[in-house]
Amino acid sequence: MKQVTASVTESRRILPGILHRSGRKISGVYLIRLRCPEIAGEARPGQFVMVNCGEECVLPRPFSIHQADGEVIALFFNVWQDAKGTPWLARRKAGDEVSLFGPLGNNYTLNPEARRLLLAAGGIGIASLRFLADSAVKRGLAVTLLCGTPTKHQYPQELLSPEIELVPVSEDGSVGKKGLITDFLPEFTNRADQVFACGPVAMYRAMAGMPELKGKPVQVSLEMKMGCGLGACYACTVKTKHGLKQVCRDGPVFELDDIIWDEVDLSI
Ligand SMILES: Cc1cc2nc3c(=O)[nH]c(=O)nc-3n(C[C@H](O)[C@H](O)[C@H](O)COP(=O)(O)OP(=O)(O)OC[C@H]3O[C@@H](n4cnc5c(N)ncnc54)[C@H](O)[C@@H]3O)c2cc1C
Repeated sequence: MKQVTASVTESRRILPGILHRSGRKISGVYLIRLRCPEIAGEARPGQFVMVNCGEECVLPRPFSIHQADGEVIALFFNVWQDAKGTPWLARRKAGDEVSLFGPLGNNYTLNPEARRLLLAAGGIGIASLRFLADSAVKRGLAVTLLCGTPTKHQYPQELLSPEIELVPVSEDGSVGKKGLITDFLPEFTNRADQVFACGPVAMYRAMAGMPELKGKPVQVSLEMKMGCGLGACYACTVKTKHGLKQVCRDGPVFELDDIIWDEVDLSI
């Protein structure tokens, strides 16, 4: 884990604002690239960084490593209109400096015998799964990515490697299949050796009850509210079948079956 000052190499808005299901407004979804060779060189899919988001934010903010390429990492993030951290980060321009530390947490684990992966990204969950998709494609694995959003504003296909089979799903049917990702997961599970998911807790609860996933290796990334990212504050503690775990240190990636989902806050 390194504490570094990174320079911004690129920052742009990728998707427009929407009203989140929580009632809070997202003013846009941004992609920022940060030159930080110390972190980029160590980063593995599933890990995250803690970013110091300006003087008004006492606590650093956690973000998944969306890509790590050479000396640069990318973050892909929702900008909460009523908040301080993400609007600050979205205002950074190329050449600005950002202080952050990482990489933190564990990572997604590929079974050596896996050949076909199914990735399920609910909303901003693509932020974490993109890095996994890229590294799986580099290893010659087949990747199907179910990408769910409330409306037509989907992660741009042109940003993804053409080898990834993208299956868009939208709640209002404006793009791809109409419904929730969990409505379509069962169709794709039998041809996958391993399943990976990143999305809201409601999605994981639905997955935990799916007969099609019983006995399959399924890894999920949890995004709990987090204070320090280092295992010191216990804000991100979650109940698992193996006792209390901290999402920042023991996770964020867990086996779907290990989490006691009834005990996890549904608002996340
Ligand atoms: C491991 C991990 C990886 C994450 N990766 C991403 C990502 O790649 N892209 C992305 O858009 N968001 C991600 N999040 C959520 C992101 O950290 C929050 O949206 C962000 O901290 C909000 O900061 P804010 O100041 O704009 O909002 P505020 O709501 O003002 O945040 C206030 C406090 O709540 C915490 N917080 C608020 N919402 C969340 C949340 N959903 N999860 C965790 N902490 C929260 C913040 O860290 C901060 O301490 C991740 C969260 C975790 C735990």
